[in-house]
Amino acid sequence: MNIAETVQAMGVVGAGGGGFPTHLKLSSRCDVVIANGAECEPLLGNDTFLMEKEAEDIVLGLSLAMEATGARKGFIALKAKHPESEAALREALRGKENIHLVLLGDYYPAGDEFLLVREITGRIVPEGSIPLAVGVVVLNVETLRNIARAASGKPVIERTLTCHGEVRQPSVLRVRIGASFEEVIARCGGTTIDAYAIVVGGPMMGWVTTDSKAPVTKTTTGVFVLPRNHELIRKKALPLPYIIKQSKTACCQCTYCTEFCPRYLLGHNLFPHKIMRQINFGLEVPPEVIEGAVLCSECGLCEVFACPMELSPRVVNRAIKERFLAMQYRPTFPKRELDTRSDFPYRKIPMARIEGRLRIEAYKKRPLTHPEGVLVPSRVELLLKQHAGAPARPVVRVGDRVEEGSVVGEVGGEVSARVHASIAGRVVFVDEERVVIES
Ligand code: SF4
Ligand code: SF4
Repeated sequence: MNIAETVQAMGVVGAGGGGFPTHLKLSSRCDVVIANGAECEPLLGNDTFLMEKEAEDIVLGLSLAMEATGARKGFIALKAKHPESEAALREALRGKENIHLVLLGDYYPAGDEFLLVREITGRIVPEGSIPLAVGVVVLNVETLRNIARAASGKPVIERTLTCHGEVRQPSVLRVRIGASFEEVIARCGGTTIDAYAIVVGGPMMGWVTTDSKAPVTKTTTGVFVLPRNHELIRKKALPLPYIIKQSKTACCQCTYCTEFCPRYLLGHNLFPHKIMRQINFGLEVPPEVIEGAVLCSECGLCEVFACPMELSPRVVNRAIKERFLAMQYRPTFPKRELDTRSDFPYRKIPMARIEGRLRIEAYKKRPLTHPEGVLVPSRVELLLKQHAGAPARPVVRVGDRVEEGSVVGEVGGEVSARVHASIAGRVVFVDEERVVIES
């Protein structure tokens, strides 16, 4: 088995949140691999923790990824504000002449992979394309750790995540996949309030749920407990028709959403203010300006920072993307020379300002702890779609006995990933969406 096949067999997917099956990236050829440890979402600390504690495995994973893709150069990007992680990585990189550390400033969205590619290589990913188009593969640091584990026969059954907000002991935890948010919160001493909602992922790009029994997946980077009436929860929970109605009445066409948009600044033809203007004419016709919505990374900078009217071009762009998907319409973009806009170097938004806008500064004052050990629950709910692409196909039945690490979901399509049992036990429920195991 080559590296890509091993990684596929062990169910490795992008751990940064995207969940793209990693074997597909490792099956391609490129000249540069970038390890993304920028961790630019506010309050997240899991990648930083991993870079400090498992630097050797991250470097090994990066070396394996470079070998698989034929890349001659590797880079590890992290923020300069984490000297412990930097020191651990420097130690692990001794003698590795072809891998370099890149220290980033504390701005948002430093971890956007298109921006990383530009920052490190000077290349600009074409519109509607991926970094591979310019000879680069970008992998999150936990993904690289998982590649290293896969090489020694260990499947992905665990995840490192940050649990923060209204919990007694904000922490970075190691958690078996399929554990519930409730168990994660309990491991952090429980909540400090009764009426709460959870932001899954980071405060900028995460989604909201009130279902505390929902399971941790391979892409769960964070579990943030916030009061139900917190501004962030209220905004994230607004229904689309309301957002559109609000946009139609309140958008003053100030253009700030475009002027601060990282993808616009990179040189892409994404003009959120024009899209906001256009939606007054309905979402049915996809003219050129509307097609630009597919270039949106959904970083959230426009809604959190740029817009003085607190509107959300991000949500509008997402709605347009979903509409295109339903129509099976895929816009194409003409090949052209790209150059960054003149304001590109001056529009890096300091994290402190983002945190202020999100009204989460108070949580930042509470440092993250790092409890020993792994949270291993007695019951796990393993979703069969924890990744981009087609769901995995269940290969176990109710009553089957499974061992830790055995396959419970087989690759379900060209773009798909395996799912493994994260605990040993008996299968108590199976359908097309999930496998539940009790020990
Ligand atoms: S979310 Fe807003 S700022 Fe971010 S890429 Fe999309 S339009 Fe630009
Ligand atoms: S920043 Fe807000 S008000 Fe200004 S153009 Fe964009 S959506 Fe409209």
